[in-house]
Amino acid sequence: MNIKESITKLSGVGAKRAENLATLGIETIEQLLGYYPFRYEDIQERKLAEIQDQEKVTIKGLVVSPAVLSRFGYKKSRLQFRMMQEHDVFAVSFFNQPYLKDKVEVSTEIAVYGKWDAKRKSLTGMKILAPKQEEDFAPIYSVNKAVRQATLIQLIKQGFEHYYDAIEENLPLSLIEKYRLLSRQEAMYAMHFPKDATEHHQAKRRVVFEEFFLFQMQLQQLKQKEKSESNGMAISYDVDALKAFTQQLPFELTGAQKRVTNEICRDLLSPNHMQRLLQGDVGSGKTVVAAIGLYATKTAGFQGALMVPTEILAQQHMESLQQLYEGFDIKVALLTGSTKVKERREILSQLASGEIDVLVGTHALIQEDVNFARLGFVITDEQHRFGVNQRKVLREKGLKPDVLFMTATPIPRTLAITAYGEMDVSIIDELPAGRIPVITRWVKPPQLEKVLEASLEELGKGHQMYVICPLIEESEMLDVQNAVTIFEELQDFYGDRYQVSLLHGKMKNQEKDAIMETFKNNESQILVSTTVIEVGVNVPNATMMIIIDADRFGLAQLHQLRGRVGRGAAASTCILVANPKNDTGKKRMQIMTETTNGFIVSEKDLELRGPGEVFGNRQSGLPEFATADLVADGHILEVAKIEAESILQQKGWEILPDYQPLVNYLGEQKEGQYFD
Ligand code: ADP
Ligand code: MG
Repeated sequence: MNIKESITKLSGVGAKRAENLATLGIETIEQLLGYYPFRYEDIQERKLAEIQDQEKVTIKGLVVSPAVLSRFGYKKSRLQFRMMQEHDVFAVSFFNQPYLKDKVEVSTEIAVYGKWDAKRKSLTGMKILAPKQEEDFAPIYSVNKAVRQATLIQLIKQGFEHYYDAIEENLPLSLIEKYRLLSRQEAMYAMHFPKDATEHHQAKRRVVFEEFFLFQMQLQQLKQKEKSESNGMAISYDVDALKAFTQQLPFELTGAQKRVTNEICRDLLSPNHMQRLLQGDVGSGKTVVAAIGLYATKTAGFQGALMVPTEILAQQHMESLQQLYEGFDIKVALLTGSTKVKERREILSQLASGEIDVLVGTHALIQEDVNFARLGFVITDEQHRFGVNQRKVLREKGLKPDVLFMTATPIPRTLAITAYGEMDVSIIDELPAGRIPVITRWVKPPQLEKVLEASLEELGKGHQMYVICPLIEESEMLDVQNAVTIFEELQDFYGDRYQVSLLHGKMKNQEKDAIMETFKNNESQILVSTTVIEVGVNVPNATMMIIIDADRFGLAQLHQLRGRVGRGAAASTCILVANPKNDTGKKRMQIMTETTNGFIVSEKDLELRGPGEVFGNRQSGLPEFATADLVADGHILEVAKIEAESILQQKGWEILPDYQPLVNYLGEQKEGQYFD
């Protein structure tokens, strides 16, 4: 007996039924037994008197009159009978399910799920639940037209009858004991047919742990492999030269910056392959950390690359690096989509000869004809915008360079250790001293007028302001129109008191740059923009931001946008103009006004919208768990991760007896199950 056998081994499963079951993803006994209900019908007896009018309930009772079927019209029918609970008799009717007639036998007990009408003492039935079933917890499966609930239940029962003993444990006994988990057999059975709520809870706890733990075992093994020496290179930088560089910086690094810089430098030195995620809130100072890493790389005789998602950001990084490197012997070049052909050719040849030390650019940087002499270190900023493939191509260009992914969108820890579990994580959790947190307010659209009045005071102090209009992906044209309208209204409002300019996604790069330049130089005081400024723009004199229709943005995006203000010494405000229609929308606006901590924002966003939404489903690399829930079961994930790591740290763990079930199980799994 092997639970990997085909379900056709069960009686009653022929080719046709097997095909139908396959539409639910059930082909083996193991898949059948692991096809858990998505909920349970709690058919604990409910006293009729306690049921609310129009409540959907399951009522158990004795059938006391034969079922009468009346047909009317084409395909329409009504099935009526009476049931009794204790001494109360009530009417039950089913519409358009004539086939249920056979299930209703006088003097038998059945349970009917339906909507209760308290006044008429009648139940409009939706279904009859597993007749003659003893359990109070009836499983409800997600099924389709081809497979019915009853069929599934019958097959699962049959499966357990014949294959219960063939279910092998896959967790080490030590963990089962440590966390008082049910055995795999017990848990699988109880997931379908729990005796009560407590047993169901225990079963689920075991299944969730198992899912997370097995996933982490694979992930951590992958991490070990990726990091292994055969994959990487040692970048032996010049410690003294690096010290000389860091000591002349115009500011003292924060404690967090020092810590992550050390983590990065340690990775560079080591022959292991660096795969590190650097998370740091907007304005936490990641650029200088990148600059230090790139400088270190140069002193070791390697080249570095800094990739960013937009041209504006590339230019800005280029300027920042040039400033930071002033007086130091390091050659930085900028390569983007709009680099002129001749200049481009020049840069390419200097890259190939090793003359250029650091290349900054958009993903134009990974085009085929870009070749480095000795690429040692690659940094991508705002990495969530980079596709996995782009990163891969880049990595393959050089000599397996160390890679640092920087992101200002804090990823909730549970997601980070799942989606980026194969990476090490560094966190800058401290802002440079002297920053004043941005004050955020939420107002309804009619109050915009007042907000604009208030802006006069801020502008009067010589400060500048952003006005952000949302971007609806389906219609860029409409967004532009929308932005243009707002731009014109603001021009009317401010008249010749202040200069308003407009930036949107349909503009040519040169045009955008020119407008950014005017804003930077304070030649215009108000910048109306679609989200093109989302990432990275640095104009410390801008102290106010108005975000129109703020509820159309994700929280992470709002947080990013808000990060454009509060970058100087003066206090800043961010006004969210929104009229959200539902509670979630309102809560989201509320959260923004309550915290400026990006990690809290992202945790809350995760709670409200779920991992898929927060993370942008598909390309995220986030695995889908069958039973486990990244939000609700986060604490179990933490434990599973720690246990997986501690097993892998034991030398020769594969041959220890306690881990044999695990080794066998992992070995049987298709390779790359989670990671292809
Ligand atoms: P981000 O993490 O959002 O990329 P930046 O690297 O752009 O942040 O830094 C934001 C601003 O803070 C820059 O103007 C930078 O010069 C400044 N900065 C960075 N580190 C420090 C520090 N330790 N002390 C003071 N200012 C700093
Ligand atoms: Mg940055």
